[in-house]
Amino acid sequence: MANSTSKNPPIVKVAIPVPLNRLFDYLTLEGIDQIPPGTRVLVPFGKTKKVGFVINNTNNSELKIERLKPIIAILDESPLISEKDFQLLQWASRYYHYPLGEVFSAAFPASLRKGKKAILAEEKHYKLSAKGECLNPDQLKRSPRQKHVFELFQSKNKSVSATTLNLWDKNWRPAVKALLDKELISLESHATTVINFSTPRESPLPANAQQIYAINQISAELGHFSVSLLEGITGSGKTEVYMQVIQRVLDLGLQVIVLLPEITLTPQLQERFKQRFSVALSLSHSKLTESQRHSAWLEMQQGRSCILLGTRSALFTPLKNPGLIILDEEHDSSFKQQEGFRFSARDLAIVRGKLLNIPVLLGTATPSLESLYNVEKKRYQLLQLSERAGNAIKPKFLLFDIRNKKLQDGLSEPLIAQIKKTLAKKEQVLLFLNRRGFAPVLICHSCAWVARCHRCDTSLVIHYDEKKLRCHHCGYQQHLINQCPSCNSGELKPLGLGTERVEKSLLELFPEQNIIRLDRDSTQRKGSLEDHLDKINQGKVDIILGTQMLAKGHHFPNVTLVAILDVDSGLFSIDFHATEKLAQLIIQVAGRAGRAEKPGKVILQTRQPDHPLLTVLLKEGYNKFAKTALAERQLASLPPFSFQALLRVYATNPADPQKFLISVCNIVQTINNLGTLVLGPVTAPMAKRAGNHHFQLLLQNAKRKNLQSLLDQLIPQLYTIKEAKKIRWSLDVDPVDLY
Ligand code: ADP
Ligand code: ZN
Ligand code: ZN
Repeated sequence: MANSTSKNPPIVKVAIPVPLNRLFDYLTLEGIDQIPPGTRVLVPFGKTKKVGFVINNTNNSELKIERLKPIIAILDESPLISEKDFQLLQWASRYYHYPLGEVFSAAFPASLRKGKKAILAEEKHYKLSAKGECLNPDQLKRSPRQKHVFELFQSKNKSVSATTLNLWDKNWRPAVKALLDKELISLESHATTVINFSTPRESPLPANAQQIYAINQISAELGHFSVSLLEGITGSGKTEVYMQVIQRVLDLGLQVIVLLPEITLTPQLQERFKQRFSVALSLSHSKLTESQRHSAWLEMQQGRSCILLGTRSALFTPLKNPGLIILDEEHDSSFKQQEGFRFSARDLAIVRGKLLNIPVLLGTATPSLESLYNVEKKRYQLLQLSERAGNAIKPKFLLFDIRNKKLQDGLSEPLIAQIKKTLAKKEQVLLFLNRRGFAPVLICHSCAWVARCHRCDTSLVIHYDEKKLRCHHCGYQQHLINQCPSCNSGELKPLGLGTERVEKSLLELFPEQNIIRLDRDSTQRKGSLEDHLDKINQGKVDIILGTQMLAKGHHFPNVTLVAILDVDSGLFSIDFHATEKLAQLIIQVAGRAGRAEKPGKVILQTRQPDHPLLTVLLKEGYNKFAKTALAERQLASLPPFSFQALLRVYATNPADPQKFLISVCNIVQTINNLGTLVLGPVTAPMAKRAGNHHFQLLLQNAKRKNLQSLLDQLIPQLYTIKEAKKIRWSLDVDPVDLY
């Protein structure tokens, strides 16, 4: 090790997005002593160049100074993220035990990760020309859109940015071009977007008493950290609460991040926000182009935009004037990243709120057990909306016992009768089945052969539409066969139920009705989900059939009957999270019924009508269910009464992961593990996936701190295990899925 001497030249420690949990040392550029932490730098890395992030400045290196290379370039004049956000990323890297370079990388848009300059494309501004000032708009009446845009210019009488034009009229470009051609307006070549915090466009609804209370409570928190859990049944007006609180944040000149679990929910909310707010709004999710995400990130960073609407990773977007973070549908497990950097956007939102000293608002109809527990511990304030806003009435639940009942592709006779009754009233029906494809199993009636994926421990799903057999785990597919490969009989039969199969039956039962199937297969094409949703909202659809896509926040005002075809598949799972997820799903799906002024009905088909989960949930409500479930978790010392980390390992050869995990157990023995339970190694619930054998080890401790201290000691040693090079491992801190 080289001695630390002040004679050494300045050295920067750089986080580089590579899967190594360490920093890399470089010499700074000639004449530069310090580079502020967080600054992007271009560095030589092996035979290539990489963009890294300066973590700190030092004069020491464990390497010989002569061996250090200088950085190639400093990419930012000053760091793009604040000191607090820098701390957030360091915290996240430590907590999730994930390489700092990768964590930084997740917080920046791809463009900036690649080293692109952090500048926004200059925005065009337009203003009335001298000629335009004296023109009577009626002279443009042959082109209504030009006339409309021209009148907007006349009413503003100052320069107008492209952003503002967008807010006025989405299709402003051709009209502006024509006006430019006619020299009625001119292009101005300057300046940044001016955001005016003008009065709301559409006035807020008169809030009810519970909404007023919630709005006031949250608004009182502006300017310091706190977490509020807004628990409100679907349709109780949570979004209205968000909007009225956001207005207060905007009035203070501050910015808001709103996180949603699903990309498909952004257009709806964006539309509602646009009608309400006249400030600039940015979007951030994975369906946007690289340059759109680049702009959104910088618009927030520079304070040009006031509201950011996005999914999980939008949480990291820097804010010039941070005001509030909102997470809608906080219970949703899509806030937890399930691969790579396995962070929880909900948990990190709270850490970020604390660092930035701003409030965090979590909203949902079905709070996660963790959040309810935090309310109980007085860490979060609970705000409730218990009535549906407006005149909407709560739906009625019915359990249909389908034991020994004749089913037509999953539909019981009483359910079919209910569907008919609803359709006769010209109301919509929503059917929920969480399995796509025609049937999950193709079985031979004479020899019991089953079509299985040769790379996974699972059967192939029948997709009749495409005449394919598909593995839903590794993507393997083959042609649908008619003849049994084992006994050559032609007796291959579908077993079980998928959305395609129910759709076929519905088409036979209701040939006159418009039926739409919404699942991952039917919404492959870009824009097709939006098309379907439009049709539903315009009342052009009578029966909607779909997977969990339907459970998430979409508004279907004319739906009055909702049925969950198969509740039982969720009742028996080895993952302790399953019952919580099932209860949330039932309540969420039910929330789609009777949203407008028509009462709704929710039917659950089950062979377990006496199952305590169902009876408690339906008779006493979600809150009572949650209390019962929390009590069970406490008895079993499961989260939130303990903390878990799951070490997953896989390889093509089944022996190596096992040997690796046994070594891990041995290491755990040698370090002070502070009472950590070591569960495993065991095979993963689905042991073989895409040709790999999966094993796992679960670590659990009653104290977060103790678990973390164990991981701090353990993780660096994993790299030294003999099998480490033959396997792939990943660590999942606070896993939400034990799969
Ligand atoms: P949530 O987000 O809880 O599902 P929303 O905010 O979308 O609920 O509200 C559901 C419906 O009720 C919307 O159509 C909304 O416009 C309406 N609404 C909300 N608050 C009020 C209110 N105070 N008065 C009248 N209607 C309201
Ligand atoms: Zn056979
Ligand atoms: Zn497979």
